[in-house]
Amino acid sequence: MPDVFADLVGQDEAVAELRRAAAAAAAVLRAGAADRAPALISAGPASPGEAGDTEPGLLDPSTGMTHAWIFTGPPGSGRSVAARAFAAALQCTYGTGCGECPGCHTTMGGTNADVRMVVPEGLSIGVGEMRALVLRAASTPSGGRWQVVVIEDADRLTEAASNALLKAVEEPPPRTVFLLCAPSTHPDDVSVTIRSRCRVVPLRQPPAAAVAEVLVRRDGIAPDVAQWAAAAAQGHVGRARRLARDPEARKRREAVLAVPRRLTGVGAAFDAASALIEAAEAEAEASVSEADATERAALETALGAGGTGRGAAGALRGAAGQLKELEKRQKSRATRAQRDALDRALVDLAGFYRDALTMALRAPIDPVHTDTAALAGAGAQKWDAEGSLRRLEAVLACRTAIEANVKPRIAVEAMMLALWKG
Ligand SMILES: [Zn+2]
Repeated sequence: MPDVFADLVGQDEAVAELRRAAAAAAAVLRAGAADRAPALISAGPASPGEAGDTEPGLLDPSTGMTHAWIFTGPPGSGRSVAARAFAAALQCTYGTGCGECPGCHTTMGGTNADVRMVVPEGLSIGVGEMRALVLRAASTPSGGRWQVVVIEDADRLTEAASNALLKAVEEPPPRTVFLLCAPSTHPDDVSVTIRSRCRVVPLRQPPAAAVAEVLVRRDGIAPDVAQWAAAAAQGHVGRARRLARDPEARKRREAVLAVPRRLTGVGAAFDAASALIEAAEAEAEASVSEADATERAALETALGAGGTGRGAAGALRGAAGQLKELEKRQKSRATRAQRDALDRALVDLAGFYRDALTMALRAPIDPVHTDTAALAGAGAQKWDAEGSLRRLEAVLACRTAIEANVKPRIAVEAMMLALWKG
């Protein structure tokens, strides 16, 4: 078995930080064995001079080990891969994730008694489940090292579950480590108070060559297809895999890349905006509708088993609440799926204008989209570097506006007009 961090592509900085932390954690265990204070330092709200208060031989919060971590990054950047590898590194007997010892093996195989992976299938993580988890996490690790709890989609915690987790993170049991995964540290994803107690490990989108290598090695995709897909996906692992395998995803990308040559006037610009928005909606609908139906059916089955005896009325009120909560979460998931789909389209489009810009500058850089390179080249001649840059900036401004909650249709229409006028 290779090193536990082997599948975390293009994340050298994060891996280095995690190894340092694992080494610091091992030092804490050794100090504990030698009967010196075996406590970790909670990340806590940083205060100046905090490092100075650290006991000698223990941890510097900036490089050492802490009780609670958040792995953030765009989907496909390897958040849960990173969390699992770090859990293994903490349980590693010989180093910081050697991949050979029983601690590494059992953690990577999902059988380590002291590592719990919480993967919310369907419904969000509820408060009951979280309380039980927190309770078990407080027990002494049976392997003598750490109790590790990995929460894969921490953005899917209910508010009550989030509060239960916060209590544990605020007053962590001495040998317990929480690893949360979330798209970002935006308050929509992780509560501000939990965030303030965690060390954040931001993962970036890995370089295209590293992604292509993984597609070939792990997914058995032909090297030339893998290289094209990794470049077109601009380093996004999951997106690259989808482009390599899913003809529908390729079709949607082609439609987006047809936008620049369709912009022949004001009317065409508005048409292109509508088409882009509607395509994103359709893609999002396709991606969430199946999960929505499955979740609702599962919840209804669970609630239907309630019976009619004493307490049935209360159970019914509870059921209405649970259904409402489910609908609320499904709605926010649909909104996010739409935003994600639109954002992918904008990233593709930005890639096109970036290609035009690098060609206008005669920069020795490979194009993002090899299949529209000729079109980008024609654009480069017509617009020159300055015009290409203005168009690229219009696409990026559209992303920023949507991020700041401008209505997507308004932002996309403004962008299309800017792309047409240059
Ligand atoms: Zn090991």
